[in-house]
Amino acid sequence: MSDWKPTTCMRCAVGCGHLQQGDDDGLTAARGDPDHPTNRGGDCERGVRETVSPAGERLTTPLVRRGGRLRPTTWDTALGVVATRLIESLSGDGDVAVLGSGQQTNEAVYALGKLARGGLGTPYYDANTTLCMASAVRAYVDAFGADAPPPTYDDIPGARTHVVWGANPAVAHPVLYRRIADSAAEDGCQLLVVDPVETRTAAEADVHLKPEPGTDLALARATLARVVAADDVDTAFIGRFTEGFEETMKSLPDVEAAAATAGVPTDQIDALARALSAPTLLYWGMGVNQSTRGTATARGLIDLCLATGNLGPGSGPFSLTGQANSMGSRVCGATGTWPGRRDFEAPDGRKAVARAWDVPVRRLPDAVGPGYTRILDAVARDEVDVCWTVATNPVVGVPDATYVRSALDETFLVVQDAFRSDAVEYADVVLPAATWGEVEGTTINMERRVSRLTAATDPPGKARPDLDIVAAVGDRIDPDLFDAPPLDPETVFDELRALTTGTAADLSGISYDRLAAEGAVRWPAPDPEAAGGYRYRDPDGGWTFHTDSGRARFSTAGHSALPEPIDEAFPLVLTTGRRTDAYNTGVRSRDGDDGPPVARINSETVGAYVDAIDRGRTVVESRRADAVVDVRPDDGVPPGIVWLEIHDPAVNALTLPAVDPESEEPNYKQCAVRLRVPDPSQPSSRRSSGRA
Ligand code: SF4
Repeated sequence: MSDWKPTTCMRCAVGCGHLQQGDDDGLTAARGDPDHPTNRGGDCERGVRETVSPAGERLTTPLVRRGGRLRPTTWDTALGVVATRLIESLSGDGDVAVLGSGQQTNEAVYALGKLARGGLGTPYYDANTTLCMASAVRAYVDAFGADAPPPTYDDIPGARTHVVWGANPAVAHPVLYRRIADSAAEDGCQLLVVDPVETRTAAEADVHLKPEPGTDLALARATLARVVAADDVDTAFIGRFTEGFEETMKSLPDVEAAAATAGVPTDQIDALARALSAPTLLYWGMGVNQSTRGTATARGLIDLCLATGNLGPGSGPFSLTGQANSMGSRVCGATGTWPGRRDFEAPDGRKAVARAWDVPVRRLPDAVGPGYTRILDAVARDEVDVCWTVATNPVVGVPDATYVRSALDETFLVVQDAFRSDAVEYADVVLPAATWGEVEGTTINMERRVSRLTAATDPPGKARPDLDIVAAVGDRIDPDLFDAPPLDPETVFDELRALTTGTAADLSGISYDRLAAEGAVRWPAPDPEAAGGYRYRDPDGGWTFHTDSGRARFSTAGHSALPEPIDEAFPLVLTTGRRTDAYNTGVRSRDGDDGPPVARINSETVGAYVDAIDRGRTVVESRRADAVVDVRPDDGVPPGIVWLEIHDPAVNALTLPAVDPESEEPNYKQCAVRLRVPDPSQPSSRRSSGRA
């Protein structure tokens, strides 16, 4: 048995410090670390369970497809096959696609980006964080000129109003939510929740606003109009530190009309508008981001904060992140920028990166390239010879998944993962990876805090750390790109932090030694004494944002209709969400014999469609696929809505492939469906039947 090793939970982006123990067979125990500054000993059941005893099947040996079957092989053979296909692609007309993840360490995701951009020179590189955070990121960049929330967890006790919009942190972020709930329970404080569905968070709210699905921006604009009408705007802050408020004022809707669109009573909108006059933290999640209007809505929420002067300690806009290292993947350059969030197309940025990597500038792509789902479109169009996925599961995690499966089935697919994900079924080569508890490195939580990962056990079988797998492939492409594996994670982190020097996401003052001494440190940290706190505040109490003018920018977008509205043929809205005991596509929480997914449907709707239900089972049918589901009458879901969990492989075959035009984040949350009585001959398998 190992000593208790201080490390970080990688199950979600709260970023709790863990103590973990292991033996020769894997991790044996995990619990919150009382000395870690993020959580001070807090932990949650899901984080501990999925760390110590995850469900799912570990990948322990490299596999290569021969004669139609995946067969065990040596690392040398598997890496040789991958490198050969990559080299063939580089010397031909095709291209290579690399899809990374917010669940790798910073060191691994940085190395993967270095290989993808600096070694392979591909424009087809993105991470699955585009599937959850891209809209919030785009909104921050548009409003403040830089990524990431201005506040931190330290601001929670100082807030008097907590608004949770399109998120369910009681389930998704339990340790963080306890702090929010504790603050909201104090005298004079309140919790307001905006969500169409009764959630565990909403059950504890002082006010629960239930907008119609897809009308969040109408509600945000109606609320701002009420703030303006009540003369509750912070004119001093707006005048000195922002721009564009006049245009926003002109764009505001009639409150009664917007309230009717959102289906929210005006007295609730008044309550929300009044609550914003106290110091307010406004949190939001996937209910906002995962929409064709995700960026516009996130900007509408930031506008509410700017207009009411809710920027500063105890207040501000705060997006809630899902994947543990979503922030790190962005800082490392996995999603549309170079490391340090350097502008991708600025010549200086490209030159600095080429110099640091010692590669010719011409090898680096000069355009950022498409995002995650448009990369898969390129795969489907046969523009890509090789697709390499690392800790991401596109055959389940992307809307219209049947189309994605057939696209990946036709290309040469390399799957690098710790668990037998659904993507393995379509792979030509499988590279078994280590996971947290087995690797050294760092991660960055949603409040910009960098924290160490340490290994309490060895990877099982022949599994290797992501960093070493990437370096071993890189070594076969360009021997000068990396040192010979195994790489020292600290050396890689030092290379990364040097490249962030002077950028908005400056990690240069954060070393492994400092992390060992302090537990975790927030960026920006431009020197060994500095640590990030509330962002953009000047020492004299003023504000300087990273925009051209130095001012924060308001926005003007208004409500627009759902990309796939209901109609006579498909009269119900499908929405998706998270189950308490699961995460993402569920490869660490599914047992394989869980039965059909459970559809939560209002009892009034169940009654209206009783002819489509046979002994508690129905078929949910969209224009793209259908899926057999078990019906659970649930009056917490409004009439006319079908709620399905995101973790089941059947669900994303149903969802709509439309994306936000500004962020490329998919519109997972609303599409039109109908119910049909199950065909007795149709097996109730977990897999949906595609119609594409
Ligand atoms: S809240 Fe998130 S980071 Fe903390 S223990 Fe739970 S799953 Fe892990």
